[in-house]
Amino acid sequence: MSHADRILMGPGPGNPYPEVIEAFGRPVLGHLDPDFIALLDETNDRLRQVFRTDNPLTFPVSATGSAGMEATFVNVLGPGDTVVVGVNGAFGERMCDVAARCGAEVVRVEAPWGAAINPQALLEAHPNPKVIAIVHAETSTGVRNDIEPLGVDKGDALLLVDCVTSLGGIPLEIDGWGVDLAYSGTQKCLGVPPGLSPVTVSQAAIDRFVDRSQSWYLDFAMIANYVTGGGARAYHHTAPISMIYGLHAGLGVLLEEGLENSQARHQACGDQLQDGLVKRGFELFAQEGHRLPELTSVVVPEDRLPDGLDEAGVRRRLLDEFGIEIGGGLGPVAGQVWRIGCMGHTARPRNVTMLLGALDEILG
Ligand SMILES: *Cc1c(COP(=O)(O)O)cnc(C)c1O
Repeated sequence: MSHADRILMGPGPGNPYPEVIEAFGRPVLGHLDPDFIALLDETNDRLRQVFRTDNPLTFPVSATGSAGMEATFVNVLGPGDTVVVGVNGAFGERMCDVAARCGAEVVRVEAPWGAAINPQALLEAHPNPKVIAIVHAETSTGVRNDIEPLGVDKGDALLLVDCVTSLGGIPLEIDGWGVDLAYSGTQKCLGVPPGLSPVTVSQAAIDRFVDRSQSWYLDFAMIANYVTGGGARAYHHTAPISMIYGLHAGLGVLLEEGLENSQARHQACGDQLQDGLVKRGFELFAQEGHRLPELTSVVVPEDRLPDGLDEAGVRRRLLDEFGIEIGGGLGPVAGQVWRIGCMGHTARPRNVTMLLGALDEILG
């Protein structure tokens, strides 16, 4: 089956919108060309609309979502600073690793994989942290962590949120919830291939930047002039022109559909998939009430695997015979769960119908 026919229902990337692929073919401009600067400004305006923020410092970091994580941490955390991190999956773990490499003291607040973090536990974990960090949509487990209560009671702490799999897919209010630093990725619910990490930073966070970020490339203070500097832009690094065309186009599709309509489409597909799986006797993995529509985690039905086929074999048959990709489990749940994405352009009822039919065919 041709690669063009693939339905990407893994934990990401989802399928890109056709308009995005078209945008990659546009002539490349120089990164200081006034026409490109105008397009970058418009991209950042679109990002502000999608993040639901007025933060002037809102732009795509020139690398994938993990670079947004690293950038947000390294600009506000250095040796001697304390960060409280919610850990209920692989990406909360990654935050701890990044924070420790900044030299920060890391206070972990854990919940089992598949469960949500208790916001109160996060707020009470340390009397005076510089940063409270949490993943909004834990792609490794399919769990949504609550953000809003953290903004209400964060006190002097900066609230740092991983929005890689939530932006565009589920409700998110950067300003309304008091989020100070957030990063996302292009390849999850935004319908753009991987390659950029949209970030947004509040004035309160800018006021508390470390003096000299340990990363040269990701130093927001140095990048700020190029991404938000008004008329005269200073070179920091060459903007990835074609990726920004793609993001600009993807955000255009999203805003034309309407942010709420896009979220409703993700929710409808997640509901259709999760209802379909439950009807077939499958057990959903994520805690009820905290299930993400854009990433469904389901316990591998060991007793229903065909003779001679393990869970990876089922996923391989989905790919080879139906052109559908789904994801396996990570870390402690490797081999025990499947992770099924309905993200961006992939979040369509017909894709869900096709996957459920294919599972019926393979599992009988
Ligand atoms: C995918 C993902 C990341 C990492 O993004 P990359 O683009 O793979 O670097 C970080 N956090 C979450 C929650 C993710 O789903």
